[in-house]
Amino acid sequence: MSADFSEIFAPGFVERPFWWEDGPPLPAPTPLPDETDVAIIGGGIAGLSTAVELGRAGVKSVVLDREAIGWGASSRNGGALSGAGSLGRAKSNLQQAVDPKLLAEMVEEAEASFDEFEALIEREQLDCHYRRCGRFVGAHAPKALDMLKRRADMLNAAGRDDAEILTRDRLEEEIATDRYHGGLVIQRAGSVHPALYTRGLAAAAKRLGATLCSGVDVKGWTQTGGRFAVETNHGVVRAGTIMVATNGYTGAATPWHRRRLIPVPSYMIATEPLGEARVRANLRNARVYGDTKKILYYFRPSPDRSRILFGGRASFVDTDVRRAGARLHRFLTHLLPDLRGVKITHAWRGNVAFAVDMLPHVGERDGVHFALGCNGSGVVTMTHLGRCAARQIIGGDNRPSAFSRLPFPTLPFYDGRPWFMPAVGTWYRMQDRLDGWKVG
Ligand SMILES: Cc1cc2nc3c(=O)[nH]c(=O)nc-3n(C[C@H](O)[C@H](O)[C@H](O)COP(=O)(O)OP(=O)(O)OC[C@H]3O[C@@H](n4cnc5c(N)ncnc54)[C@H](O)[C@@H]3O)c2cc1C
Repeated sequence: MSADFSEIFAPGFVERPFWWEDGPPLPAPTPLPDETDVAIIGGGIAGLSTAVELGRAGVKSVVLDREAIGWGASSRNGGALSGAGSLGRAKSNLQQAVDPKLLAEMVEEAEASFDEFEALIEREQLDCHYRRCGRFVGAHAPKALDMLKRRADMLNAAGRDDAEILTRDRLEEEIATDRYHGGLVIQRAGSVHPALYTRGLAAAAKRLGATLCSGVDVKGWTQTGGRFAVETNHGVVRAGTIMVATNGYTGAATPWHRRRLIPVPSYMIATEPLGEARVRANLRNARVYGDTKKILYYFRPSPDRSRILFGGRASFVDTDVRRAGARLHRFLTHLLPDLRGVKITHAWRGNVAFAVDMLPHVGERDGVHFALGCNGSGVVTMTHLGRCAARQIIGGDNRPSAFSRLPFPTLPFYDGRPWFMPAVGTWYRMQDRLDGWKVG
């Protein structure tokens, strides 16, 4: 029996990222060159950022994507940006999980990556609606507010985030809900139109000498005499080095990397135009927003502030985008009751990739470089790690990334197909319920 979603979907509803209205992924049907210095697999933010940095150093690269350039998560995400704020999400007890000296370096590097991101937008003149709008993180339970306090301390100890805890009685200053038990405001955070950002990166990479090839599916490679023959559906390209930047779409071509990543679908919806006044009545300061639940919500105004874009793990397995959209609509109106009756015009999905340790990774193995494991928060991080990978390839960097000094663990008997996700979803839902979060 098919569900009736007419109450929820506006006329003309589409199953397509809202962002693609202004910035659809770029077809680049360029013929595959025979030779290159670096073959980059994956034409998202990580691969394009690598290509930009290589281009700046005069190193030739070819960016290969089996779909259009920017087709992956890079043009589908929420466009919420922060520095070390996104690291804190990895583990509430990062302090215990990672060597304190390395953790301090990671936090410092993640903070600096936010500055680098802003500098890149300026330098390459990327027209992508960038705004330094700040971030609000809602505490879904009283104990979550304690965790946010620890996160605020970690960020403020790093010196620049200006993180502030908001108790429940001050929630009204930020958001029109009484579902949260307070929250955290981080000033050093921003928003971007992710598809325009990705297109801008692609244009910069091209300007700096990279060749972009869409529709090229990498099947694997062989290595002889220190050079690689990269096999694709369009023939072979010979390269001095390979860079893997496939994140949540990592597949059988790169089994070692695949075993270290857990791909998870994330879904988003866009409301119909509401007008800025109504958006601001709900999201007072037009920031980017998230929360502390296991099954977290993330949301923000559209760049023109006329709509609300809302995302979350509507399902832990592949599910129909309409069903997921309807579920997100329920989550949205439960959180922001003023939006009851508002319809949605777009719903879409994309894949993120979690590493087992919930931290991002950059590195090299057998001459193959990689930047992988965004853990749901990769616009700034993947821009940074792509740049780190390029520096790794060029050599001579006297301060390798802290993220390259972490082990990149896998799970016993795991081949990259996360059969356990339905159980994880159930466990997460149960934990949120035990914390008192009940969606009506
Ligand atoms: C719905 C959603 C919301 C998100 N919200 C946010 C957010 O608000 N803020 C934030 O910072 N991050 C967010 N993220 C995460 C962020 O989008 C990702 O971390 C980031 O885009 C990853 O970039 P990437 O270049 O590593 O991978 P992707 O952009 O996913 O690109 C990987 C590419 O590899 C290609 N590929 C895979 N295998 C092959 C092959 N064998 N041959 C050729 N090509 C191949 C794919 O076609 C794909 O285009 C979100 C993600 C999703 C899905």
